[in-house]
Amino acid sequence: MKWSFRIKIEKTIYFCFRSMGPLVVNLKRLQKEPIRLRGSLDAQALEIETLDELIQIAGPARYSFVVQWTGQGIMISGELEMPLRCICARCLTEFDDWIRLPAWTTYAELSGEDALPVEGENVDLTPLVREELIFALPQHPLCSPECPGILPKEEDVPRPSGSASNVWSILDSLDL
Ligand SMILES: [Zn+2]
Repeated sequence: MKWSFRIKIEKTIYFCFRSMGPLVVNLKRLQKEPIRLRGSLDAQALEIETLDELIQIAGPARYSFVVQWTGQGIMISGELEMPLRCICARCLTEFDDWIRLPAWTTYAELSGEDALPVEGENVDLTPLVREELIFALPQHPLCSPECPGILPKEEDVPRPSGSASNVWSILDSLDL
């Protein structure tokens, strides 16, 4: 992913939407041509918090996507990602993780029950990004899919029994 122009674009977006947030799109402009949005937003601005104590948001969410007018609603396609700091649900080790949605696509209506908030000529895409990221939070964070869980300490491991010599010595002692 290329984020090299992020700062410049963020400044531009900030200039355009100083009072409205970076994910606000002008519908008149959108009806003329697709709009590309790229930048980052912290979890507070996105109003995302995790209720799971095993998962913490470790930095701002990054987004890079194209918004298109479909005639009745809007189509979004692009990328979303957000860094996480997790605690493994099996072994309690802390580890870094990511939400990565490299091929995010979604469609949103501008009227009806689930419509995005439209204010005058502008529509705010923040709820779409928020929902997508919340939906992608891990349900059961694991440091690796094969994590064996907390391993017992060496002194707690029972000595192997049932080995060949043990079996024979037991048979001997039975005096069959
Ligand atoms: Zn683990």
